[in-house]
Amino acid sequence: MAAKIISGTEVAAQIRAELKVEVTAMKEKHGVVPGLVTILIGENPASVSYVTAKQKAAHEIGFHSVQDNQPADISEADLLKLVDKYNKDPKINGILVQLPLPKHVDEKKVLNAIDPDKDVDAFHPVNVGRLMIGGKEAKFLPCTPAGIQELIVRSGFDTAGAEVVVVGRSNIVGKPIAMIMCQKAKGANSTVTIVHTGTKNLAEHCKRADILIVAAGVPGLVKPEWIKPGSCVIDVGVNRVGEKKSEKTGKMVPILRGDVDFDRAKEIAGAITPVPGGVGPMTITMLMKNTVKSAKIASGIE
Ligand code: NAP
Repeated sequence: MAAKIISGTEVAAQIRAELKVEVTAMKEKHGVVPGLVTILIGENPASVSYVTAKQKAAHEIGFHSVQDNQPADISEADLLKLVDKYNKDPKINGILVQLPLPKHVDEKKVLNAIDPDKDVDAFHPVNVGRLMIGGKEAKFLPCTPAGIQELIVRSGFDTAGAEVVVVGRSNIVGKPIAMIMCQKAKGANSTVTIVHTGTKNLAEHCKRADILIVAAGVPGLVKPEWIKPGSCVIDVGVNRVGEKKSEKTGKMVPILRGDVDFDRAKEIAGAITPVPGGVGPMTITMLMKNTVKSAKIASGIE
């Protein structure tokens, strides 16, 4: 039987609608409006498009949203001052500095200057530590891993006691999703294995997975015969494998593929995310969710 296709586009739209209702209620009952600032340095087209999408989502949900554009030659000291200004601004609950930064700026220094309680991307070492401790300590979960967990939970898979295999150990996907899924918590409580390029018998580990999360960045790495029948497969990989003419605009657009051979895997898995339209749409949505949570904590609602 063909797998259920887990649509990140649909789940993201559902969560954004829920957030809109929540934000309206926060405004009406408590006079609290979540605030998000996105700081863009220079005019890198990819960064401009990411920031625009984040601002659009923030606006639609009903945030107080600020787009702060700075020139590519801004000094590190001035950027740190800017971050500090938003750290102190009570109307701002989430600060996002769009990466990459110009070469003359120390990226780590800037990200670490963000107040951890406004670090809605959850990459600050304090938030990485909070995630490790888990429970109420973990204020914000990093956005892509949090989106992956939502997709698994909302697709109806029972995570408690499930064998979860994570392919990849990056700091932005592999390690945090493994840490999230092994917490003693609802939507987690799984037995987790992380595999990487140093792993022997990659295929054997994947074959055991009730939930297989693949974040390697290698197109077609996971073969259909590695997939346990009926399992849940979350393909995080986004790989450009060529170009095609867009039917809408007539312009050339990239052809994207995941790390899993989707067409054959969907005949074996119980549920699977497509690429594109799977994990991708969830990331910005979870950023919005973190900003709402930050506003609730700051105002004492939560
Ligand atoms: P990354 O930093 O390059 O990490 C890739 C990980 O996969 C590494 O741990 C690497 O192992 C492992 N790996 C690579 N080839 C492997 C192989 N042949 N066998 C076993 N393990 C292998 O990548 P990332 O930032 O985590 O991103 C992974 C993919 O997810 C990319 O395609 C990226 O574009 C995509 N992504 C999507 C979203 C989204 O949709 N919102 C967000 C983030 C990332 P070693 O550590 O041993 O090198």
